[in-house]
Amino acid sequence: MKTKKLAAPKAAKAEAGSRAVMNIPISHPDKALWPDAGDGEPVTKLELARYYESIGGWMLPHIKGRPCSIVRAPDGINGEQHFFQRHAGPGQSDLFTQVKVAGDRKPYLQIDRIEALMAVAQSGGLELHPWNCAPDKPEVPGRFVFDLDPSPGLDFDDCVAAARELKERLEDLGLAPFAKTTGGKGLHVVTPFDAGKTIGWKEAKAVAREICARMAADSPGKYLVNMSKAKRTGKIFLDYLRNDRMATAVAPLSPRARDGATVSMPLEWSQVKKGLDPKKFTIRTAPGLLAGGKPWRGYDKGERPLLPVLKKLAAK
Ligand code: ATP
Ligand code: MN
Repeated sequence: MKTKKLAAPKAAKAEAGSRAVMNIPISHPDKALWPDAGDGEPVTKLELARYYESIGGWMLPHIKGRPCSIVRAPDGINGEQHFFQRHAGPGQSDLFTQVKVAGDRKPYLQIDRIEALMAVAQSGGLELHPWNCAPDKPEVPGRFVFDLDPSPGLDFDDCVAAARELKERLEDLGLAPFAKTTGGKGLHVVTPFDAGKTIGWKEAKAVAREICARMAADSPGKYLVNMSKAKRTGKIFLDYLRNDRMATAVAPLSPRARDGATVSMPLEWSQVKKGLDPKKFTIRTAPGLLAGGKPWRGYDKGERPLLPVLKKLAAK
């Protein structure tokens, strides 16, 4: 294998046998991180880096400026080590931004440039979990992520129906909702907003809870907002708890450290219909599907003021 001499960042010295993606050396490029991407072929560390390179431009606006935890599994999804890394560690690549937030002396990791995603791949980073704050404002909420969690045994179509109902409710409140698979069992409905000067995390979370609580109250046989696992049987848990300070949700297009190398795929609402199969969105298929469609078109103009939403809920 050809070894390129590179002006490498301090933390990632180029080793013999490493390969470069965006000029960032990736060591052990042939290491299989997922044994099978659903097509019988493993996903290597080099392929992960190239995946991040190809989707990085799309993903960046959704993670930039927010503290971002990283699920790292340096030996792959079946390896022994799985870390949920929040803070910058010793020898952290200087491609990351380090950001301090009130109440914690240790700086958090933040990804503000595509090259940092190569450093994520280099460190065996398989999942990205940003905060849901406004960019560069950790104290200001910036979007809702509603996490629809179907209890085991439910059909994925039930989750689809829940997402569509939530879409209607959010639109009725004047918000612009967008959907994505999680790469796992459920769906996320995401809606960006402008918290203005008066709305903090507490109020935003209360709004998210109220929206979910009303939906559950209208169909108590289908949905619940209660955390208790025991009560979830046969229902979909409307998890509003992603919408808090320090809470995270998996980023759109983030891979998952799960079987099949699935990713959290942003969807057009026309795709959110019966028969939707989240397993078909993988590291291998997602870049092509993304290029062939227009998921989340209008997201950049989708931010709505939250205060009128709060007032509408209070009035009804
Ligand atoms: P699914 O559709 O399978 O429920 P998900 O992404 O909604 O997928 P989880 O992976 O169970 O669900 O994650 C739930 C939330 O907890 C995520 O929003 C994530 O940011 C956060 N999380 C995940 N792993 C950890 C961890 N090890 N420590 C703390 N928080 C985590
Ligand atoms: Mn979930």
